[in-house]
Amino acid sequence: MDFKIAVIPGDGIGPDIVREALKVLDKVASCYGHHFSYETLLAGGVAIDETGAPLPEETLEKAKAADSVLLGAVGGPKWDDVPSAIRPEKALLGLRGGLGLFCNLRPAMLFPQLASACPLKPSMVEGGLDIMVVRELTGGIYFGKRERTADSAYDVMAYSKEEVRRIAVKAFDIAMKRNRKLTSVDKANILETSRLWRATVDEVAKNYPEVALNHLYVDNAAMQLVRNPKQFDVIVTENMFGDILSDEASMVTGSIGMLPSASLRGDSFGMYEPIHGSAPDIAGQDKANPLATILSVAMMLRYSFSLPAEADAIEKAVSDTLDQGIRTADIMSEGCTLVGTAAMGDAVAANVR
Ligand code: NAD
Repeated sequence: MDFKIAVIPGDGIGPDIVREALKVLDKVASCYGHHFSYETLLAGGVAIDETGAPLPEETLEKAKAADSVLLGAVGGPKWDDVPSAIRPEKALLGLRGGLGLFCNLRPAMLFPQLASACPLKPSMVEGGLDIMVVRELTGGIYFGKRERTADSAYDVMAYSKEEVRRIAVKAFDIAMKRNRKLTSVDKANILETSRLWRATVDEVAKNYPEVALNHLYVDNAAMQLVRNPKQFDVIVTENMFGDILSDEASMVTGSIGMLPSASLRGDSFGMYEPIHGSAPDIAGQDKANPLATILSVAMMLRYSFSLPAEADAIEKAVSDTLDQGIRTADIMSEGCTLVGTAAMGDAVAANVR
């Protein structure tokens, strides 16, 4: 099949890691008989340098016309002093908003080979971890009315039933593709928005009798994530709770260079990116770990292109590469072989079967 991918390398290590992810996609294309075409677009600091804007209109329009978007990372010290309205990070908000991406998927995966990087006791993460946090991305307190006076301030948290319903549907659909266990996180003992959230999730649940649903208050969920993370399969929650819990879940895995993410809308379109930033300290030095970006294209194949076997093949290739003891510096441990960004990409591509 033919797929059109908008590629936005961005700044810092962005071009280094995106190059390796495309290498792996090309290998998938040749093994499985697909055709991926890439259109490289500007966003972030490089876009400010070339056009004066972090997200040129052309980038948004061409991204909209693609089947999905692969993003590296944006930002860096070079643009720290530009006015806040045109900072590189504005490109991220512009893309998420402009593309209508309301559903953020943040898997927290701990490969058993990297268990020593996990800050939790080994017995708690035996066999690895695989949690999917589904975060509502365009509603709630980050987008509500806000005001500040001399001695008071407020931020409004508001949700419509439809906003909750559409993210709940996404979460149940994802749970159906995984272990059919969904935890909805709210603060329904205090917040009215959470009571609407819980009632709406329960309503959607009627269409998914195979999925085991439970509800947790957000304070309890934060505690359970470090007490017994293996109890979770899919977690769905509103914007601010999701922001906090997805960071907590990813820290449990211990390695920032390993974690992918996806931002989706109601149809199959999505934007895929590693969770880490542009790591200006190691940019262009063949030191960055490309695995988070490579795992992001695996998510693209699974969620945008409905190619689960190909997605599995990439994830297995990453795992096989780790089994071979191949490591970039950030995940290096004794007895393993230290490689650079390009050699890591080569190794994973070679392991795609
Ligand atoms: P960062 O994630 O870029 O780096 C934090 C640390 O992790 C650094 O030591 C870096 O070298 C290391 N690191 C990150 N990714 C790595 C990888 N793939 N392989 C090996 N090591 C890796 O976070 P930061 O330093 O806070 O931010 C740097 C810039 O990135 C800032 O301009 C920030 O605004 C931007 N940023 C962008 C995004 C994004 O584009 N989505 C996200 C976060 C930060």
